Formats: sequence, C-alpha cells, structure tokens
Amino acid sequence: MTFDLTTFKRAMGQFASGVTVVTTKHGDAPIGITASSFTSLSVNPALVLVSLDKKLFTHNVIAESGFFAVNVLSARQLEIGMRFAGMKPEIKNRFEGLQTHTAVTGSPLLPDSLAWIDCKVWNMYDGGDHTIFVGEVKDISVSELDTPLLYHNRLWRRSEALQVPTVPSEVNLVEVGLRDGIQREEKFIPTEMKLEYVKGLIDAGLKEIQVTSFVNPKIVPQMADAALLSSLLPVSDSVTFSALVLNLKGLERAAEAGIKKIDMGVPASETLAKKNANTTIEDGMIEMEMMVKKAREHNMKVRAGVQVAFGCAYEGKIEVSKVISMSKRFLSMSIDELSLADSAGLGNPQLIRRVVQEILPLAGNVPVVLHLHDTRGQGLANLLSALKSGITAFDTSFGGLGGCPFIQTAKGNIATEDTANMLHEMGIETGIDVNKIGALSRRMEEFLGKELPAKMHKLSLESRK
Ligand code: MG
Repeated sequence: MTFDLTTFKRAMGQFASGVTVVTTKHGDAPIGITASSFTSLSVNPALVLVSLDKKLFTHNVIAESGFFAVNVLSARQLEIGMRFAGMKPEIKNRFEGLQTHTAVTGSPLLPDSLAWIDCKVWNMYDGGDHTIFVGEVKDISVSELDTPLLYHNRLWRRSEALQVPTVPSEVNLVEVGLRDGIQREEKFIPTEMKLEYVKGLIDAGLKEIQVTSFVNPKIVPQMADAALLSSLLPVSDSVTFSALVLNLKGLERAAEAGIKKIDMGVPASETLAKKNANTTIEDGMIEMEMMVKKAREHNMKVRAGVQVAFGCAYEGKIEVSKVISMSKRFLSMSIDELSLADSAGLGNPQLIRRVVQEILPLAGNVPVVLHLHDTRGQGLANLLSALKSGITAFDTSFGGLGGCPFIQTAKGNIATEDTANMLHEMGIETGIDVNKIGALSRRMEEFLGKELPAKMHKLSLESRK
C-alpha cells in the first residue's frame, strides 16, 4: 500500500501533541492504553513504531492479535486520554460511551482523533522492560483539525524539520486606535488631530486603518465627527480605511460619507447583545444579513464577525460551538473577512488555539482577523498562540488605547508598537515603524493627560534621554 507524503507529514506532526493511545482488540473487546514513550512514523517503508511496557496487558494482547492502531488525541480529548492513562479508575471500561469505529485490521479507532494510523504488527524488538512494536501501516487518516493542541517544546523543532512554518514571515496589523482606542475617551479629540493621526499612521507604515464608527453620538460622543472625518481622509490606493457600523442606519451613514469598507459584528452573548444594541443574537444575525446585502449595493467591502468570542464579562465562558455556528453563518453571507474578537480580553492562548483551529478550516480562503484586548496582560501571548495556529492579521491600537463603551472591565487593545516590535524581533515583517508609532502614542499621552498602557513608546522615550 502506498501513502502520500503530505498525509504522513501531517500525521507525524500530530505526535507532537504528546498523547497517543494504542488500541487493539482482545476477542471482541476493544483494548487501549496511552503510549507515553516515543512514537514515530516512517514513509518508505510505511511503518509506525511504538514502544509499550511489557507489564501491560495491552502489550500482550497486541503481540497475540497482531494488529493495533495509534490514535493521536487532541486537548479536547483530555478526558479520554486520562481514561486510557489509567487516571480514571472509576471508569471500568475505558471505551464506555465512546463511538468507536473499526479500522481495516480490526483495530478500534477513537472518535475525533487528530490522526490515527492502523497497523499490522510487522516486527517486535526487545527493548529491555519494554517492546518496540513496528507496525506496517495499513491505513492512515488525519482530521481537519490538523494542529496539535497541547503545547510541547518538541513541536517547534519538529515542525521546522517537517518544513511546516511555525509562524508566518509577514503579519498584517490593522490599526484600530482611532476607533476602538479612543471611543471611550471623554476628552474629545478634534477632527483635525484625528486626521493628523491618520496621516501619521500611514507614514508609520499602516496599510489598513479603522478611522471611526458610525454609531449613536449620544452614546459614543467621540465618534460624533465620523462623517466629517471620513470626508477629509487622504486619497490613497495603498491604504484601506474602514469604519465600524452596528446597524443599517450606521451603514447608510458610512456609505454616504464615502467609506469603502465596513466592520461589523454580533456578540456571542445574549446579555451583551441586549445591553449593546437591545437585540438578541438571532435578530443581530438577521440584521447582519441585510447589512451585507446593503453593503454590496454600495460596493463596500465587509468584514464581519463574532464579538466576545473568547469570553464575556457578563456571561463568562462562551461555548466554542456558538462561535463556530455564528462564524458559519457569517461565512454563508459571503463576507470578505471574518473577525473573531476577544472584546473583553478574557481569552487565553489555549482557548485561542482551540477556536482558531476550528474556524480556519471553515473559513477556507476568507481571511480571519483576530481582535485582541490586553485586559489581563495576556494579549501578546494570545497573539502568539493565534499566529502559531495560522492567523496572520490582527487589530492593534497605538499606545494600547482602548476599551469598550459597553464593557466597563474591557481594557485596551494590544498595542501596535509592542506587537510590531515583538514580531520584528521574531523575524516577522509588519512594515511598521515602531518609533514613529511610539511618537504618536506619546503625543496622545500628552493630549489626554494620562499614561497609555503600551510599553515600547516609553522605552523609546527613555532611550532618547
Ligand atoms: Mg474592541
């Protein structure tokens, strides 16, 4: 049997997740145990190698049955992994309640594995207190969830050896300081100054700038000059200006003001949907459908997505399934970009990875942008996790400005200068001049009369002294 190299590489990549369960059959009964020691796979000949402790029952059964499957588990299968590792002694039958299916050799396969490899025993080598089982690969499968979930230091090296890039070479930062960043600032920033900032941001290398939002000025007074500011924007082919809109009315205002790209979203929290726009998630989604149609009529690009996708200040945890179903619905509207927002800054790197690896295969060619807040100091860790999971575009704000008018506990976005600096040091291009952003942040600090949460703009100030 021949196998393609890509499938092998992908299956091999999954081993880095660190948890594999070796399964076989004893008569009619499925048997399985975690193979904690080294597991490896060769392409030509197609062989897999696992080592099992001689004291184990599974060891003897495999030697007798002559077949086994290697199942690579994901983090969400932690409970299953614990069963097979013998950490759930109260569960007598480790396969209880699991929807297994049977591979060609007769090996039982665990549901939702990242990868499984079905084998006939080809050879057995004595390794002292353990035996190295060499399996001839009969069948192999890798799930769509092809990114291992558990962090493991071997992942970095292994991925490089497999020539799978662990991080992209370029990242696109979308500046949202003039929208998300300042929307909660009480001191009104004059339109002229906002315009200077737009020009300053372009000069610093930003290629996409969210300039304002068309929302009710009574609720967000800082955005009262949305139409005026939009009419004054410089003409540029290389820079995209976008604006946030919450409803059809806002969309019409944005279109009238000449905005070519809109950003919109629905929170994955009923409580926030109610507080934010006095609506429900369902009604919000229905309005989005109408808005996308309207935007098309106006030839506007549409970025739409899920707000509070990683946790809500009111509802706490957000079910990943909810984020998936909302994302699917947005994608069915033929939007230009999908955004996932950690609006309250409650995400963590593991959750980010979990959500991103579910959404990216669904999105296909539609770019996915992550909007992160640094409420609890986890912003850049979340960014790195997303980066390693395949995201290459992020919203950032200069100075780390930001906060949501509807979520009092939400703090600033991840800072443009800090993000760009970290990426540059990692050898990732952003095209952004960190010092120029730093200067804009310092000027805003003076204007607002308060310190901004970013770090790099302060460091560059210190180094100038
Ligand atoms: Mg935000």
